Amino acid sequence: MGDYKPLEHETMASEGSDVPKMPRGTKHDLSQRHSSVLYHHLRQPPLNIVGGRGSFLITDSGQEILDATCGAAVACLGHSDSRVHEAIMEQLQKFPYCYSMFFTNNAAEELSQIMVDSTGGLMSRAYIVSSGTEAVEASLKMAVQYYMEMSPPQPQRVNFIARKQSYHGNTLGSLSVGHHVGRRALYEKILAKNVHHVSQCYPYREMKDEESEGEYVARLAQELEDKFQELGPDTVCAFVAETMTGATLGCVPTLPGYLAAMKEVCQKHGALLILDEVMCGMGRTGTLHAWEQENVVPDLQTVAKGLGGGYAPIAALLVNRHVVDTLSQGTGAFSHSQTYQGHPVSCAAACRVQRIIQEDNLLANVREMGVYLGQRLHQAFDAHAHVGNVRGRGLFWAIEFVQDKQTREPYPPSQAVAWTIHKTALQPEYSVSLLPGNGGIDGINGDHICFAPPYNCSRLEIDEVVDCAFRAVQRVLGTSV
Ligand code: PLP
Repeated sequence: MGDYKPLEHETMASEGSDVPKMPRGTKHDLSQRHSSVLYHHLRQPPLNIVGGRGSFLITDSGQEILDATCGAAVACLGHSDSRVHEAIMEQLQKFPYCYSMFFTNNAAEELSQIMVDSTGGLMSRAYIVSSGTEAVEASLKMAVQYYMEMSPPQPQRVNFIARKQSYHGNTLGSLSVGHHVGRRALYEKILAKNVHHVSQCYPYREMKDEESEGEYVARLAQELEDKFQELGPDTVCAFVAETMTGATLGCVPTLPGYLAAMKEVCQKHGALLILDEVMCGMGRTGTLHAWEQENVVPDLQTVAKGLGGGYAPIAALLVNRHVVDTLSQGTGAFSHSQTYQGHPVSCAAACRVQRIIQEDNLLANVREMGVYLGQRLHQAFDAHAHVGNVRGRGLFWAIEFVQDKQTREPYPPSQAVAWTIHKTALQPEYSVSLLPGNGGIDGINGDHICFAPPYNCSRLEIDEVVDCAFRAVQRVLGTSV
């Protein structure tokens, strides 16, 4: 800092940089607030969060809510880790922003190195943006550029194949590869026509009784092969899938061999494999990258939520070495840029989050607590008359609700079962935040809730999560057997 003296309005990092002291029990008048009215139901103002500590969020009335989902699988360290606050303040003290079209910065370089190292160098570049949606959008464009800059170029590769009941983001490109019926509905007419969808790997609903797991995987691979043939194999640019489907189906691990079979079809036809690990990546399933457990390396990979743990908006597109090599021999630069890419403060936060995951050996805790969470969920819900399926991996689990366990008939969407359970669970007698999802079966029918607690959660917290969730489910759906 040299002789630098802060001006009156400038604060030094040391002042008040520790965990914020939040007034408890202070009521705020939400009717005076306007920022949230565009994304919350107008007649139901949401709870107002004024503090966070460990696995808990604190509302303006002093209610402590156990955050069993890290928001949407984001806050992987829990809330208010002072080590991350310090890293952010340190970066702010140096400088907050520089334009990545002109400059790079140490935080972005360090984060990229961490990401590249975490793949053993298989992915050799990280393109850092601010949201999962942006990372997906960038992956689609990079796939197109890859074929345009190949020698000889393959400009006819304009089709994408993605999966039904998937979610990849909310901008037009990412919404097009996604298949979220509700979010697409208004915009169908302006979504991309060069995106085609095949089935998910969803054994509970879509594997036939007479089929073995291997036969089911072979059927899905054949469906992808048929789609390539229908479109013309050399017109397909990439196949896009989540390594483990998160929000839409509700934490469905793929069957062994599924991703390898899908990659084989892509490779046979020279198309790229894009794995979207925005939700399931960065440790959530027990390994830093979910694809490690499948031994399938993608050509392009998106990561987001657990990357920065919610301390700053951040996401990244990881690029396989062979794609980087092709672009290097072409124009040498990705034809895409955004004002906030490689943002120093977000990168500093994410670097610290990633170092803490390593230093505190949190992936081991994810694996251990993940097994425990699975056991507790099975104990509590397997026998429940209205829970059809309990599934998950690492600290990423879901339970799917049914009206009838035998027929697996879902509840009608009008009953909004998952959302009602979510709202009920937020009431003071339960005080747990659960992630609701619906539309898993066909985009319209089907309800589930997801569990995605922080990587450093304890057995006691898991016990409390499962107990509160069970009581909230009982309250909404009644009898347990
Ligand atoms: N991809 C997947 C798999 C997601 O789950 C999400 C968000 O939930 C996105 C992309 C979009 O990420 P974001 O909301 O950060 O834009």
